[in-house]
Amino acid sequence: MRTIGLIGGMSWESSAEYYRILNEGVRDRCGPTASARCLLWSFDFSEIEALQHRGDWDELGAMMVDAAQRLEAAGCDLLLICTNTMHLLAPRIEAGVSIPLLHIADPTAEAIKAAGLKKVGLLGTAFTMEQDFYKGRLSERNGLTAIVPGDDDRAVVHRIIYEELVAGRIEPASRTAYREIIARLVENGAEGIILGCTEIMLLIDAADSPVPIFDTTALHAQAAIAISLGA
Ligand code: GLU
Repeated sequence: MRTIGLIGGMSWESSAEYYRILNEGVRDRCGPTASARCLLWSFDFSEIEALQHRGDWDELGAMMVDAAQRLEAAGCDLLLICTNTMHLLAPRIEAGVSIPLLHIADPTAEAIKAAGLKKVGLLGTAFTMEQDFYKGRLSERNGLTAIVPGDDDRAVVHRIIYEELVAGRIEPASRTAYREIIARLVENGAEGIILGCTEIMLLIDAADSPVPIFDTTALHAQAAIAISLGA
């Protein structure tokens, strides 16, 4: 079994889900006492989100590379960044280590293509919804079109992530707001919805969407299990 290195704590609410999914997946495949071989580097998310909102991506990049190098030095065979947003820095992180980085958009795109879909709605932080690092990877490498909510809806999606989900708050009113935003994406042609922030799966599941959902947390962790077990 290969050792999975997790760059996490962004937030720990979703890192805990990665840990659970990795261990359950290895148990399902390898037997009741089997569990995932992994190491977690867990940041203090208050520092991360302050730097994000200040726009200090250079400092964030240095922190991500430092974590990646620590995990490599500790013996990890592959790396996962346990957040969609911080994949903005994926090229810099990849350049800083010699072990492979499993990009969260790739298993997500594979699942969308396997479902036969071409146009999907993307929910995530403003950084993920508004910049090109994520949508671009979906289109350029996979021929998929990702559409995002309108201005007001994007602000709601972003606010709920940073004020509630990363703080462990699951509010029914926010679930209703997300459901309405998903419905508008579907009206605009989305054939599926990417839960493109690793905490959204704490709020939303398949029952909240009239079209298939693609949970990046689960898809990323499951792809890591397959690599770890040599599938
Ligand atoms: N976990 C979130 C994501 O997947 C947001 C937290 C962060 O900004 O890293 O994008």
